[in-house]
Amino acid sequence: MVIQDFLDTNITYLSGVGPVRAELLNKELNIFTYRDLLYNFPYRYIDRTKFYKINELDPDLPFVQIKGVIKGYSTEGQGPGKRLVAEFKDETGSVKLIWFKGGKWITGNYIPGVEFIVFGKPGVFNGTINIIHPEIEAVNKMAERLNSALQAQYSTTEKLKNQFITSKTISKFTGTLLNQLKSRLPDNLPEYLVSKYKLMDLHDSIHKIHFPSDPAELEKARYRLKFEELFYIQLNLLRFKTNRNLKLKGFVFSSVGDNFNNFYYNNLPFTLTEAQKRVIKEIRKDLGSGRQMNRLLQGDVGSGKTLVALMSMLIAIDNGYQACIMAPTEILANQHFQTITRLLEGINLKISLLTGSSKKASRKSIAESLLDSSLNILIGTHALLEDNVQFSNLGLVIIDEQHRFGVAQRGRLWQKNLNPPHILVMTATPIPRTLAMTLYGDLDVSVIDELPPGRVPVKTMHFTDSERNKVFGFIRNQIAEHRQIYVVYPLIKESETMDYKDLEDGWDTFSRVFPAPKYCISIVHGKMTPANKEVSMKLFKDGHAHILIATTVIEVGVDIPNATVMIIESAERFGLSQLHQLRGRVGRGADQSYCILMSSEKLSKEAAKRIEVMIRTNDGFEIAETDLQLRGPGDIEGTQQSGIPFDLKIANLSKDGRIIEYARHIAEGILTDDPLLEKNQNQILITELKRLFSKLQSWSNIS
Ligand code: ADP
Ligand code: MG
Repeated sequence: MVIQDFLDTNITYLSGVGPVRAELLNKELNIFTYRDLLYNFPYRYIDRTKFYKINELDPDLPFVQIKGVIKGYSTEGQGPGKRLVAEFKDETGSVKLIWFKGGKWITGNYIPGVEFIVFGKPGVFNGTINIIHPEIEAVNKMAERLNSALQAQYSTTEKLKNQFITSKTISKFTGTLLNQLKSRLPDNLPEYLVSKYKLMDLHDSIHKIHFPSDPAELEKARYRLKFEELFYIQLNLLRFKTNRNLKLKGFVFSSVGDNFNNFYYNNLPFTLTEAQKRVIKEIRKDLGSGRQMNRLLQGDVGSGKTLVALMSMLIAIDNGYQACIMAPTEILANQHFQTITRLLEGINLKISLLTGSSKKASRKSIAESLLDSSLNILIGTHALLEDNVQFSNLGLVIIDEQHRFGVAQRGRLWQKNLNPPHILVMTATPIPRTLAMTLYGDLDVSVIDELPPGRVPVKTMHFTDSERNKVFGFIRNQIAEHRQIYVVYPLIKESETMDYKDLEDGWDTFSRVFPAPKYCISIVHGKMTPANKEVSMKLFKDGHAHILIATTVIEVGVDIPNATVMIIESAERFGLSQLHQLRGRVGRGADQSYCILMSSEKLSKEAAKRIEVMIRTNDGFEIAETDLQLRGPGDIEGTQQSGIPFDLKIANLSKDGRIIEYARHIAEGILTDDPLLEKNQNQILITELKRLFSKLQSWSNIS
């Protein structure tokens, strides 16, 4: 049998598995084939050269190994708590071994007086140390163990354990399979890479990861397998980008014309920051290059991305094309419409707003003006994606707060033209560099790393619920100084009803403490009609309302410079990036702004850490890094929509940044040398890419 076919063999045929266990392995561990079993890596290793003495055991220890004899068995407890107990002794003391089932087999096999090795996790019950369901091995058996001191531990589940598939069983299956290999596993990286970068080859890596003989060797195996995993992800992303550049011609926006210049010289309300200038230059270069632009613009909240978006659209218009900008909420689309209309005052361009609540008549006129090319800029929400929204010559698509959209949605905008428009996606969620390389690895990235001048950093403070009166006093003073206040309540899908109750209770409290007519409080939440939302927002925007009580609908984008206080209720329930986004709503003018985090007295360790970080820094990238450390990359917004079609088996996007960079660098080198991977030596790459990524066909043309 060819080795590849052998690896594709159904796991059910492996000796000791069979259909019942195979089904469990499918369901519980995603193991379907021999290959899957080999790639089911241990999650840790236990050093089985080390033995503890029984008098050293304490319940804080992890799994331990002890040597001794069983003195005798007894039965304790009644009903479901009934258990077999063995007294196990060495020269320093004794410990109880406990089984809740399988008693007969145990008393029959582990004879008192014979020396055994016991392996398990020490626990404590009624003040005595015990080990529940230990593994037991005869001393003379130890030598036979696949000469490995570091014993691999595999993940299992309750269901697996009930069918007696333990970590040890999985190790045994893997050993059986490796013994059946008739030849060496062929490498899935080209020979030239393996030798040039001194990687351990695949055959050895797979053996050593499961049965390492020493830590150094294990490390080499782990490194190689991590590299392989990350390398193929990078190669896939970069190949995608290379292909796109080779295949797709972008519209050439060769010149900067009247609209741009007119705006720049007459309407621009302030000088651009250096970072804005640099980013606009990068975008202009893309637009004129003849390649389709696919660029991610990262910039912290308040860094002035809207202006960059607008100036890019003016370039498109100057070259005879239409442009559109899509935002994730109506509030934000509205705001963009107003801001952009105001910024373009006196410049003869037609701008329209299209959202879910646009009336039929206005939809119709928008549709007409899109087709007869009289409409220059369309601003809107998801409504832009509808089939009946058709452009005559869409040249540039801008997607604001792109993490709020799914990949498929963005792809639909892209298809609105026969020829692909240029794409600029913008995000205020800073993503650590190496993570961005993986999540948006096929995009070019621009960063606005500078805030407009004169911004005073927001001061962040933490108060518990019992200190509420202090906070009210502070709000009163701020309002006396003509400042406005946001109060935000969490809204989490699972407990929506409770959340709305919190919001209503909050509204009651604030209305009592800040009574009308002296004070005016406005409220915005997701259950209101868009029209009502708009009225409330306007009340606050125009400065009539002193306080805006809201759910996280205001999280993204809203820009009201006179609002200087952001109060976040139940701050412990928000993630770091959300807290940072919310804080970004204030500190937009020249006045000192404040962010007040309210929480209960008792905080989990992680919540306390989040609050501590918020107080310490305003730097979005530092916050993103901490978030990544605290939560792991799987929870970071956008990860699920990324170009990674499978769970990573061994690499870790937050910890293996250096390997990611290295793998990317090597993948770039290969594609520079052989853009279509046509060379003989690279055929193995094509085979492996196909195998790994074929399920991912629907992945859209923009990431
Ligand atoms: P974001 O990047 O979060 O989308 P915005 O585009 O909403 O930020 O800009 C935030 C605020 O900064 C707006 O009020 C905008 O008018 C202002 N702004 C943008 N660029 C500059 C600049 N170069 N100088 C001064 N203020 C600026
Ligand atoms: Mg914005």
